[in-house]
Amino acid sequence: MANKASFGVFIGRFQPLHIGHEYVIRKSLEQVDRLIVLVGSANVARDPRNPFTYEEREHMIRSAFAYEMAQGQVVVEPLDDHLYSDNAWTAEVQRRVHEIVLAEGNSGFQANGLDDFSISLSGFGKDQSSYYLKMFPAWGNIQIDSQYGTFSSADIRERFFARIPEVPDSILSKGVAEQLHDFKMSDAFKALLAEREYLDAYPAEWGEGPFVTADAVVIQSGHILLVERGRLPGKGLLALPGGFVNRDERVRDAAIRELREETEIGDSKGQIPPAMLASFIEDSRSRIFDAPGRSLRGRIITHAFLFRLPERRKLFKVKGGDDAAHARWYRLGELKPEMLFEDHWSIIEQMADL
Ligand code: NAD
Repeated sequence: MANKASFGVFIGRFQPLHIGHEYVIRKSLEQVDRLIVLVGSANVARDPRNPFTYEEREHMIRSAFAYEMAQGQVVVEPLDDHLYSDNAWTAEVQRRVHEIVLAEGNSGFQANGLDDFSISLSGFGKDQSSYYLKMFPAWGNIQIDSQYGTFSSADIRERFFARIPEVPDSILSKGVAEQLHDFKMSDAFKALLAEREYLDAYPAEWGEGPFVTADAVVIQSGHILLVERGRLPGKGLLALPGGFVNRDERVRDAAIRELREETEIGDSKGQIPPAMLASFIEDSRSRIFDAPGRSLRGRIITHAFLFRLPERRKLFKVKGGDDAAHARWYRLGELKPEMLFEDHWSIIEQMADL
């Protein structure tokens, strides 16, 4: 085969995998020896936009490409989001791909150069969300003639999480359709349906936004203060203490108010007064986190404040209050991104320099 590249890379969320994705994979395999399929958003909690875990999506790909995976022609790997650092994300893509290429004993790749001539990127620039296809200039392109059908994973999710859930078998391969039929029986599906209904009703109840919120990233002696969400959306997930800014308050004061309401942070003498909490805010500044899709409730722009509390052997006392089920300190090292609500992991990653 002329100009056969050794490795192809195909990045996607596959929420869920459909026959359009499968078409891209098959077409790519006509042009490369091995296709590395990177399953994006591998580290996010389930929500109606990302309903399936990495393992479930790997299973979908395996059901459609069992032979190719057994032969090593298709290699599937998880890829984490770093919502506020495209550089961190790009670096992770490069690292994953180079590890696989080097593990194959490929001598064409120079660790310090741009001569990644054996690697090509696959994918169809469907809309502005495919901007990432331009982030790898060192890699070639696998030309796929055109988008396969007009359907998308978003349409499938729309039908799957409808009041009368439908599995659109005609645009899913058999194994994926079966997996979705099974998933319909699970508790995770029920929880996602409840979440979907809540989110559908949200704009009528609260409006379309944009909304302004404030969040507190509170760090003390290698620990971070988080609350477990007591209600929808994201019931049971961990979140930064925070909430909506009232009409009559400054954003910083909202962060302090929510922090006190949700965690009652203090010591044996009582809660820490607002002015003292304010003095712990690093650089007395906030950072804005505004990824357009950061919340499924609507357009919510948040301001996060870093509260760096004095290092001490005994952490401040906290307890759950208000709408948080409970508050507690977490060792920074024990957190996993998928334990966190919306983009809170990405915010922590930036604010706490993880
Ligand atoms: P997707 O599953 O929607 O699409 C994957 C690929 O399949 C795309 O190239 C798309 O064009 C193609 N495709 C979709 N429908 C098709 C059809 N009918 N026919 C032919 N091709 C079709 O995935 P996505 O949302 O594009 O995935 C990108 C991933 O990269 C996400 O997980 C995203 O979070 C991640 N990402 C992260 C960062 C960051 O964290 N900073 C930055 C960029 C991208």
